[in-house]
Amino acid sequence: MIFLDAAATTPVRREVLEAMWPYLSGEFGNPSSHHSLGEAAADALAGARAAVAKVLGCRPGEVTFTSGGTEADNLALKGIALARRGADPALDRVAISAIEHPAVEESADYLRRVHGFTVDVVPVDRHGLVTPEAFAAALRPETALASIMYANNEVGTVQPVRELAALAAARGIPFHTDAVQAAGWLPLGVKDLGVDALSISGHKLGAPKGSGVLFAKGRLRIEPLVHGGGQERGRRSGTENVAGAVALATALTLAAEEQPRLAARVTELRDAFIRAVLEAVPGAVLTGHPAQRLPSVASFCFPGTSGESVLLELERRGVVCSSGSACAAGSDAPSPVLLALGLEAEVAQTAVRFSFTSAVTANELEQAAAAVRDAVGSVIGIGRR
Ligand code: PLP
Repeated sequence: MIFLDAAATTPVRREVLEAMWPYLSGEFGNPSSHHSLGEAAADALAGARAAVAKVLGCRPGEVTFTSGGTEADNLALKGIALARRGADPALDRVAISAIEHPAVEESADYLRRVHGFTVDVVPVDRHGLVTPEAFAAALRPETALASIMYANNEVGTVQPVRELAALAAARGIPFHTDAVQAAGWLPLGVKDLGVDALSISGHKLGAPKGSGVLFAKGRLRIEPLVHGGGQERGRRSGTENVAGAVALATALTLAAEEQPRLAARVTELRDAFIRAVLEAVPGAVLTGHPAQRLPSVASFCFPGTSGESVLLELERRGVVCSSGSACAAGSDAPSPVLLALGLEAEVAQTAVRFSFTSAVTANELEQAAAAVRDAVGSVIGIGRR
């Protein structure tokens, strides 16, 4: 099987499994316990926090471990917006892009439905880019928080986060970015990016599902979502997932070391794959930005097909990928992300996303491009019969 669905999830890396194993077995203590087992667990958690902080270029106290990217996004959106409005009732708006992951989009909608916030949705251009002009136009004196994803999970477009964060900072508005897809592929230094908050998910990086991080700048107040024993400096109660934190820290550290080399290699393979698919399938459309895109994502529409049928035909030929995002998989509705890029609903329904791990090879992608040609040919043939 050729696995081209890494944006949905990745296998746990051996080094990560080995690093986390002691905290699932012999060193199984609760970090809050006042005995040697508890202290060993607390030390491991502190080590993981310091390692994540090193990659992000922040202080360890600014790192909150969560149960994944979804929780990190929820904590950022709800936690920051509610804390800021608590301090100043006039701050009752949030700004997000039109192509956010549901973890951000639904959190913003919750703020609207339940807490009376207004959500300002920043449009994107046909490549999925948020322009600085459109972003600046959405920022108001009442904006409690702006959240623009670093890289999109369906089309791979990478946003000009530095520039956008600077626009928010100039207005005193905290800026959050969902870096779940960017982590492992793009630089994550939070000072250089100029962001106030950033979300990461472990399972996109070779750590297990159910591990994540929210970076939030020290001075930012966050209203917790989960109440209890006050772990994670009161930001996220609940006995810590020590093994998960160690796993995420290990995966993130390895990814940061490998990132420049692997990103360059995979970008070349991605571009060759895009050329091969566009040549092999007449009428195929590359979605997202032609250059400002994740090294690991090639996404297309194949007009005249249905994305789901192409997926089935590809799987019969040994290639596993996804129609749009895993979260929307199985739904017949065209992807809101593709509609926001201005694609017709009929075309958006024909989307297929190929996403690569860093281990992908030229040979696999050559085989995959041939499988795409045959799969699309077969679906169109079936349609004509
Ligand atoms: N944000 C983006 C951009 C994602 O792609 C995903 C997962 O696909 C998430 C957030 C959610 O992360 P998790 O699966 O860890 O909850």
